[in-house]
Amino acid sequence: MYTIGTAGHVDHGKSTLIKALTGIDPDRLPEEKAREMTIDLGFAWLRLPSGKEVSIVDVPGHEGFIHNMLAGVAGIDLALLVVAADEGVMAQTREHVAILDLLELSHGVVAITKKDLVDEETLELVRLEVEELLAGTSLAGSPVVVCSAATGEGLPELVDALERELAQTPPRRDIGRPRLPIDRVFTLPGLGTVVTGTLTDGSLKVGEEVEVVPGGLRARIRSIHSHGRAVERAMPGRRTALNLPGLELEALERGMVVTRPNWLVPTNIVDVRLRVVSYLRRPLRHNMGVIFHAGTARVSGRLILLDRDEVRAGEEAWAQLRLESPVAVVRGDRYILRDPNDTLGGGTIVDVHALRHRRFHLPTLLRLERLASGAPEQRVLELMGPHGHITWGELVSQVAMAETEARQVVGELVAQGHMVVLPPQGLEADTVLASSQALGRWWEVAEEALGHYHRQWPLRRGMPREELRSRLRLPPKAFSALLSLWERDGKVRLAGEAVALSSHRPQLAGEQRRQADLFLEALRQRPYAPPSAGALDPELLSYLEEERLIVRVAPDVAFAPEAYQEMVDKVVAALQRQGRITLAQVRDMLGTSRKYAQALLEHMDRCHITIRVGDERVLRRRD
Ligand code: GDP
Repeated sequence: MYTIGTAGHVDHGKSTLIKALTGIDPDRLPEEKAREMTIDLGFAWLRLPSGKEVSIVDVPGHEGFIHNMLAGVAGIDLALLVVAADEGVMAQTREHVAILDLLELSHGVVAITKKDLVDEETLELVRLEVEELLAGTSLAGSPVVVCSAATGEGLPELVDALERELAQTPPRRDIGRPRLPIDRVFTLPGLGTVVTGTLTDGSLKVGEEVEVVPGGLRARIRSIHSHGRAVERAMPGRRTALNLPGLELEALERGMVVTRPNWLVPTNIVDVRLRVVSYLRRPLRHNMGVIFHAGTARVSGRLILLDRDEVRAGEEAWAQLRLESPVAVVRGDRYILRDPNDTLGGGTIVDVHALRHRRFHLPTLLRLERLASGAPEQRVLELMGPHGHITWGELVSQVAMAETEARQVVGELVAQGHMVVLPPQGLEADTVLASSQALGRWWEVAEEALGHYHRQWPLRRGMPREELRSRLRLPPKAFSALLSLWERDGKVRLAGEAVALSSHRPQLAGEQRRQADLFLEALRQRPYAPPSAGALDPELLSYLEEERLIVRVAPDVAFAPEAYQEMVDKVVAALQRQGRITLAQVRDMLGTSRKYAQALLEHMDRCHITIRVGDERVLRRRD
């Protein structure tokens, strides 16, 4: 599926040519009809002699509507540059070619139209002018066809040239992450809200849930239209209209992107490779205000030059764009910079969700080089950023490659020892991919935090897992996997919910030891009716319990372990003899008070030794 976009100066005959080729009048707005000028985008489609259908976006040539032109060329495969024979190359011919060149669009056909208005000599001059204009751009060497929409002369040749050029255009990639940058929003009676755009990177089908980014609104696609008919599935590279009932017209606007939910995160700071248009008279300066165009979005921002103070016509630089509002872009997308009057430059987005960089910082510049040109492995590693880790979900949304390819690359990096996957059993959105540096840093943080915790709470077995997890800011599954790794390496000890450095031994010191000894001695003196445990420091009490020096059966009742075992044995023996026993019988048998007997029996219930039946206990049957 291909989409052709027109380009060229206002009034050079673009709309007339499209109408002559397709029978469809792309100038659909009444305002345009009245003024005979394309203000916004017009749409049509053409059936080629081979039977293939192509979408056509007719863009405005008027300089006041360049932003509409940019929205129109988002996602086109081939440019149809229209030059009127009676005027030749004009300001917007030049600007449109500069834009197509910055977008690195390398497939084009030139139509020198209005042939009926000029003589052969003028035609030749215009042809030379066009060839000169295209030389050195991505469109250099594009076929040129002379024609007239008025007489129909040259139109069959033009269609042939389009067909031949499209045959050499690589088909639209389908990486399973469909994006539809919205170029129009309107409502239709009985249908509700409809958005249109040129679909890229994947397909969408009726019934599917989609998200609109930025904003995060959700909707289900009720119907899809393409080339004037309803279709079940929209394919990449095609003009597509989606009916999204339930979304308010006012909530949507050109520049937003319709996509599958939960992966595309809007950003307002991007790193880019920047090239300045070759005929610009003034340099671009660090920190200047610019208008950023990507897809169909247009946002004001500031240009941060990372490796110089100014860039002149035709030069390239590394730059960062800090935008006033978020845009939904992915790595590898092309962008254009303008000011209110001129196209200034453009290029490729190298990193989305960038950090603020120091300028003239060599490691940053080297990283951008690697991101822009590196092999897939390199790109994945660079995406892990200075901290050396990323979730699988983030990686998939940023890496600009198909998920299956990303899986392969991750597999290779793991095999080569460059990456650890946490947890290792399969890749899910919250799976964490980490470099060995990241593992090292996490361990530094954990060792420090655990050490501090042990000093603060020397009697505790360790730090609660959750507390350590929040220090490391890791998703739960990845964190558990990391703990297992550390346990296996003998770095930590895990006991229930507690994590401890493996060197940590809870120890009593000074006054605490004296208190503990006194308490334990008191337990031995009065084994079945010991002094209340409530008087003891709770930390100390927990420690004695964890170390199994006491058995705590109620908040303030603890027994020496031997005493506890004797009592349990006696109760069990009695139950085996007589089948059931009351609280009072236990109290008398042990020569203790009701309080202790009750605490003991309730604890035995909790330990599944006994069951309470009315006022009595019976042995729990062990099956
Ligand atoms: P656009 O702004 O590039 O879309 O230009 P239009 O298609 O609106 O055409 C501008 C004017 O040129 C209109 O008045 C057309 O009738 C006229 N025009 C377009 N193509 C031809 C042509 O092949 N021959 C002649 N004589 N006039 C043309």
